[in-house]
Amino acid sequence: MFSQVSLSQYPGAIVVGAIAPDLPIFVFYFYSKWVLRRSEREIWTEGYWHPRLQNIVAILHSIPLAILGAIACHVFNFMEGKIFCLSILLHCFGDLPVHHDDAHRHFFPFSSYRFISPFSYWDPNHYGRWVASVELAIVLLASVQILPIFTHAIARGAIVAINSFYAFFYSRYYLIPLLRKLGSS
Ligand SMILES: [Zn+2]
Repeated sequence: MFSQVSLSQYPGAIVVGAIAPDLPIFVFYFYSKWVLRRSEREIWTEGYWHPRLQNIVAILHSIPLAILGAIACHVFNFMEGKIFCLSILLHCFGDLPVHHDDAHRHFFPFSSYRFISPFSYWDPNHYGRWVASVELAIVLLASVQILPIFTHAIARGAIVAINSFYAFFYSRYYLIPLLRKLGSS
């Protein structure tokens, strides 16, 4: 899909498309936690399931809408828009196999079907530890691959920031608890 264009030509469209589907969730989380001072339990068992938020998340995770958007941008020769939609599509294909209880409605608004994967990117009851390890490895390998392509300081800073973010949360939720467990046994 990206073979005919140079990736470094549209870094903004790729990055924004990659994070756009989850952006409302980040905004909701930080607003709920730091402004409204809600507990983690309230955030993930109540607020997150509000129909309005769920519909916004479903639209941004919609595979058919991303395909239609990419086709429309292709027809109108709007390359940034096409790359943005394809980047959203890649995000959706990445989400599909690693969401269990929190699976998105990837065919919204045409269908509310949720694919319940046996794997979760976070839930230890559904191989969350293993999936997080694989995800961290993929992020590191992908970063090594794209670092020579993106020479701009901001792009490189973003790559380092993303890796630091992953490493921090992986250490905090999986590595340190595992080391503690091994230390106490
Ligand atoms: Zn997502």
